[in-house]
Order: sequence, then C-alpha cells, then structure tokens
Amino acid sequence: MTSPHLASDGLAARYLAGYPPELIAQADGLHAQGRLADYLARRFPERHEVRSDAALFDYVQALKTRYLRNAGPLNFVGFDAKLRVLQQALGTHTRRTQVQGAKLKMRREIRIATLFKTAPAALLRMIVVHELAHLRELEHNKAFYQLCQHMEPDYFQLEFDLRLYLMQLEAAAAEPVAQPTADSSGPEAP
Ligand SMILES: [Zn+2]
Repeated sequence: MTSPHLASDGLAARYLAGYPPELIAQADGLHAQGRLADYLARRFPERHEVRSDAALFDYVQALKTRYLRNAGPLNFVGFDAKLRVLQQALGTHTRRTQVQGAKLKMRREIRIATLFKTAPAALLRMIVVHELAHLRELEHNKAFYQLCQHMEPDYFQLEFDLRLYLMQLEAAAAEPVAQPTADSSGPEAP
C-alpha cells in the first residue's frame, strides 16, 4: 500500500536497505501516514520483563542451553547503551574477528542494545537469536540465517519488523508531538 500523496523522507530506504522496493514503499506509506506506531503496537502487544544484565543473562542462557548447548560458555552478557543496532548488530559486520595466528578468535560476548529493554518481547528474542547465531557463524551468511531460523522460525519477518521498530523510534524522536489517538479506527494494518 503505497502513499503517492506523501513524499518519502528516505527513512524506510535507510532502515530497509537491501529489501525489495515494494516492501520499502509499504513501510514508507505506513510512516508517511503516521501509522507505523499503531501497526507495531497491534502486531506486538506482548512486552517482556528483561530489564537488567542479570535478567538478560538468564534469558540468553536459556535459549543457548536449548539450541546451542555446545557453543562454549559466554564471557559476557549485558545491555549496551552505545550499541547502534542497525549499523553494528544488523549491518554487515565489517570489523572482522581478529585472526590470531591461524585461528579465529570467536566472540563469546552477547551485547544487546539498551533500547531492547522496552522493545516488544518478540523483538528482544529475535535480536538475542541473532547474537547467539554469531557464536557459530561470524558473518551474515546462509548458515548464519539457517541457524537463526532454527532458533526462531519467524526470524526473517521479525528482523523486518525490528527495522520498522527502529525506524519508528527515530521518527518518534524527531517528532515528539505526534500522539497516537486512543481509539484508532483506521483500516487494519497489513
Ligand atoms: Zn549480526
């Protein structure tokens, strides 16, 4: 559902780089009509209670025990206020793991951006699955995404929705006056 009357500000193109143009146009439409927050609220009514590093450790450990039992112990699990999700977590991991001798030094840390403390439960799970998969696969390659899907079958849809969520956070920060109406009786979000 595109929105020809409202000009795109390029936000969707930035958050959804690499996605099909139709999806970017849809996201642009939702954003331009001010319906992004409403769409996300409807899609993700469930919150979570993972607010501390200790709670995050337990959450990560439970998933790791279930899916990656042999991946070796984690050295660190915690929230990180400086982590930029789009560029550092979801982006191409440009900073390769340091090669020490002939051996790759695998990451044993799980850092989750602080914004996930208040994100929907499904999106926290998605980003934790993403970081857990990096215990096995450093790059965003086919094996990496297969592992993500093994842990979370809806992984690709959730990563797309996470990008919409991040997009909405930026849009909301830019326009703090925009308030969603209490009863939004508009058409169903796609
Ligand atoms: Zn990654």
